[in-house]
Amino acid sequence: MPYPLNQKLRDLVPYEPIAGSYQIRLDANESCYALPDALHQRVLGAVGKVALNRYPDPLAKEVSHAFAGYYGISPDCVTAGNGSDELISVITSCFLESGDTVVTLAQDFSMYAFYAGLYELNVAVCPKEADLSIDPQRLIRFCKEQNAKALIFSNPCNPTSLGLDRSAVRRILSELDCLVILDEAYMDFWDQSMLPELSEYDNCIILKTCSKAFGLAAVRLGFAVAGKTITRAMRAAKSPYNSDSIAQAIGTTILAEHDYLRDRAAALIDGTKSLYEGILALSKAHPGRLMPIGVPCTNFVYCKAPDADRIHKALLSRSIAIRKFPEYLRICTGTPAENEALLQALSQILSDTTGTEA
Ligand SMILES: *Cc1c(COP(=O)(O)O)cnc(C)c1O
Repeated sequence: MPYPLNQKLRDLVPYEPIAGSYQIRLDANESCYALPDALHQRVLGAVGKVALNRYPDPLAKEVSHAFAGYYGISPDCVTAGNGSDELISVITSCFLESGDTVVTLAQDFSMYAFYAGLYELNVAVCPKEADLSIDPQRLIRFCKEQNAKALIFSNPCNPTSLGLDRSAVRRILSELDCLVILDEAYMDFWDQSMLPELSEYDNCIILKTCSKAFGLAAVRLGFAVAGKTITRAMRAAKSPYNSDSIAQAIGTTILAEHDYLRDRAAALIDGTKSLYEGILALSKAHPGRLMPIGVPCTNFVYCKAPDADRIHKALLSRSIAIRKFPEYLRICTGTPAENEALLQALSQILSDTTGTEA
């Protein structure tokens, strides 16, 4: 007889975003740019100096300083995590109690509801508008009706690629007393961050990651930024050595490279813009087949695609991976050459009206 797993574990499956290997990977919102050689050498040098027999700095002071320096904030309000994913887990498990209600939005990042479910929280899902935007007034009302203990959402949003501007986020923060977690994983591609005003709100946590604009998805390094009380609690509640010395050393090296980081983000913004324009042109040539839902504030384009499944499979057969959702496709920017290859493949696939290609 197999071991009797409890209810919440029974139907879980390990996260495996994509099986197989593909030449062009536009499915995970990673940066398409590897580190330049000189910087890569400096990273290796920093890693070489790590004392592997010693535990890491549990407060990750150096890398938190470097992170705070890049954004011009105080390191006292920074907690490092093993990716921001881990920080979502720490927040949902520690700032909420079993039976509390956390509000998420649909569509949004799936990990919020995943961790909330593991920690036996009630998840109340506030629907977005028909155009996938967020109506702040409706969201505020929903949180109050649900007696929410916390609200968590990504801004700009993964997967929709849309952003909620500062004035709307300010309204949400000032009208709600519950904990508000703003996941700004993609805010390096937009200019509406709440980081500069965070100190005005004692109920807010901003999450940041090195996995997207900074091109360090392999390293697992994310940060939570919040006021003194919350930061103290976060540092106390996380596992002591959550961020390893190698991640800290790499992060410290890269986060000091302000010009490099800004240039890379700018290149990814440009890439996304031309990808968006290319897809928009295709959508005009093939009405109703593949339609960007709006101008992206991220490094990816989100598209309505009634036969998402067919397009997704046809791209995989050409060794191009993108992310499929029911009736939608999410396409991350690649290098200019990768974007060109994608657009050409899409053009062929959309021109095939026999529906036999897969
Ligand atoms: C990618 C992503 C993260 C996870 O980042 P890690 O630091 O790699 O764990 C968090 N939030 C959103 C919305 C993301 O898309």
